[in-house]
Order: sequence, then C-alpha cells, then structure tokens
Amino acid sequence: MTKLIQWQEIGNSRVILRLDLNVPLKDNTVESDFRISKSLPVITELLSRNNQLIILSHLGRPSVEKPEPSLSLRVVCEHLSKMLHEPIKFVDQITDQITFGEYKIIMFENMRFFKGEVDNDPELAKVISSHGDFFVFDAFGVSHRQESSTTGLMNFLDYAAGPLIQSEVSAAKNILEDPKKPLCTIISGAKISTKISLIETFSNKADYLILGGGLLNTYLHCKEFEVGNSLIERDLQQEVVDFFESDNAKKIIMPIDLVCSSDVTLDNPKIKNISMLQSSDKVLDIGTRSIERYADIIKKCSTVFWNGPLGYVEKKPYDKGTESIINVLADSNCFSVIGGGDTVSVIENMGVEDKISYISTGGGALLKYIEGKDLTVIKKLGL
Ligand code: ADP
Ligand code: MG
Repeated sequence: MTKLIQWQEIGNSRVILRLDLNVPLKDNTVESDFRISKSLPVITELLSRNNQLIILSHLGRPSVEKPEPSLSLRVVCEHLSKMLHEPIKFVDQITDQITFGEYKIIMFENMRFFKGEVDNDPELAKVISSHGDFFVFDAFGVSHRQESSTTGLMNFLDYAAGPLIQSEVSAAKNILEDPKKPLCTIISGAKISTKISLIETFSNKADYLILGGGLLNTYLHCKEFEVGNSLIERDLQQEVVDFFESDNAKKIIMPIDLVCSSDVTLDNPKIKNISMLQSSDKVLDIGTRSIERYADIIKKCSTVFWNGPLGYVEKKPYDKGTESIINVLADSNCFSVIGGGDTVSVIENMGVEDKISYISTGGGALLKYIEGKDLTVIKKLGL
C-alpha cells in the first residue's frame, strides 16, 4: 500500500515529478512560460535536497497512434533547462533501462505520446515507477483526470502534493468557502454551456455577477435585445434558461454600451447603447460606459473571481474591455482570483501578473474543482 507524504520531507531520493508544462507554442518556441515559471520552485527545492528528478508532463492532445511532432516536449525541455541553468536529459522512450548519468534531471517526452497514459494503464505507471522512490504531483491542470501520470503512479509510489497545487486549491477554497464580501464574479468567454455550473455555483455566493462575451450576448438575446449576428448559443440547455429566470439572475449587472462591428472583416468598431444594436451588428466587446459601471462595482468589492475574457481579445481594439478591467483589478486592494487559459494570456501580455492576487494555472481543472467534479486526485492528495 502506498501512502500520502509531505513533499518537503523528500531528500536524497529519485523523485518522479508530475508538472503541468502544457504551454502554448508558436513557431516551435514557447510562447508563454507562465506555467513553467510557476513550476520552478518545486524543482529547485527538490534539487536543493539532493534529489534527482524525472519530470513528466503532457502537451496538447496528441494522437497515440500518430503523435504529432509539433507536440513534442523537447522545446519545452530546452526552455526549462535555460530557466533553471541546469542541463536536462530528454528521454523519448519509456523503458526499464533509463539512467541519470551525470544529469540531475530527466524529462520524459509528452506523456500523451505513450500508450496507456490516458487509459490509466497500470503497466505504464509500473515501468515509470521503477525509476523513482517517490511521486510528487504538482499539476493542478490535470487534477481532474485519472491517468497513468496522475492517479496511476500513486498506486506504486508514496506520493505528495506539490506546493503549486496546494496554493491553487487554497486560493479556490478561499473564494468558494469564505470569500470576504462583497464578492463580484465575472464569467465570460465563448459559450455559456461550458460555464453554466460555474455561474450557478457563484450566483449563490456572489453579490454581483458580471457576464461578458458569448455569455452576455446569449443573456441579452434571451431578454429580447437585438444582438445581430453576435456569438450566441441558440440551443440553450434548460439549465441556462432556468438560471436566467431565477432570482440569482437579478445579480447580473447590465452593461450600458457595447462595441460592435458590421464589417465582415470586423473593422470599423462602433460603440452602441445595448438597445440600439441592429441585425447586421456583431458585438465584440463591452463599451466605455459599461467598463465604468463594472469598474465602480469592482472597486466596492473585497473579492473578485474572474473567468473568461470580456471580448474578442484576439483582435484589437476588442481587447480593451478585458484590459481595462484587468487594470482596475491590478490597481485595487481586493483579493482577486483569475483563471481560464485565454483570460490568463491577456494578463501575461500586459505583464501585470504580480498585481493580481492569484492567477490559476488550472484552466478546465479549476472549473471542475469549483463545480466539485472529478476530485479523485485532489482527495487522494488530502487537499
Ligand atoms: P477562457 O479560456 O479564459 O476560459 P473561453 O475559452 O471560454 O475563455 O473564451 C475565450 C474566447 O471567447 C476567446 O477566443 C474570445 O475571443 C472569445 N470571445 C469573448 N467575447 C467574444 C465576443 N463578443 N465575440 C466573439 N468571441 C468572443
Ligand atoms: Mg479558452
């Protein structure tokens, strides 16, 4: 039987370390190293206690039959090695014949290249475990998955929760269990169906609810506002309709104006009052007066939870609403937790990461955690 231990107690050992180095790549280089930099403390601390490390991660969703070379972790390995000023041995085949040689760190190829990872095949976990004495799990981003490199290895080695997943879970718990009031929740992004459980969870706790993006368009459409050919979800789940009609929906702060375009190229942005939209308009961001209204609310709040960009942030100037609200949070003293891949990349591009209380590396896992779903890994880690 394996047991849960504390990662700080591990020394002079071979440690299998599961990280989330699933970072965006562009032109075969690392586009954002936010997740890598968040993983540096556990690596350096384990090394300082004279451990040797085997680092495991996944990257994207490759096919096991024909792994895409573009999803190799090799470039990530080189990037990490530079950040650590430490050579790393890259291993692309998992066998029982792996040696550290003169290296302190080995990194395996993308775990999802290997048959058995996603199916949680104990054979794969067994071979990997033969190279380690302990297993440290510090990949919050896959804490909602039962795979060889998550729960699989916990059946073969004594295991511990790393410091990053501990702080991720404690930030999420803080927001869920004991948020300092008033609490404002901003939920935005593309599709309401992927975020309805999040909205339901927070609408009970929050004092104010701000919607944006496709979620706001869909809400406005249901309230019989013209939203032209904006991004909306037409086939609404009953859950969404029920929420819109519930008392909690009264916590939604209505926007005043929106930025839209009627060009196919999405150029020539216009700011329009929410009741002035026409059938040819496509809503792409919140307007200046909405930004002011939302900013006034946020400034009154002690806690803010935010997931999903407020506009079509990939094209300027439709990132203005999102950036303005990030600046409001950066300048305020409230406790702010922000998650979601696209939301976090806007913050990184602005370079204000240090001014936000907590930025989650979790992506979909954070949403699952908040919804109370798929918590096997979290429970095993005693978090
Ligand atoms: P996150 O990754 O932060 O959880 P989502 O993946 O749910 O966020 O949503 C992000 C996507 O939503 C972005 O690609 C963004 O362009 C898009 N989006 C937000 N608002 C709009 C809008 N008004 N029109 C079209 N796309 C939008
Ligand atoms: Mg996204």
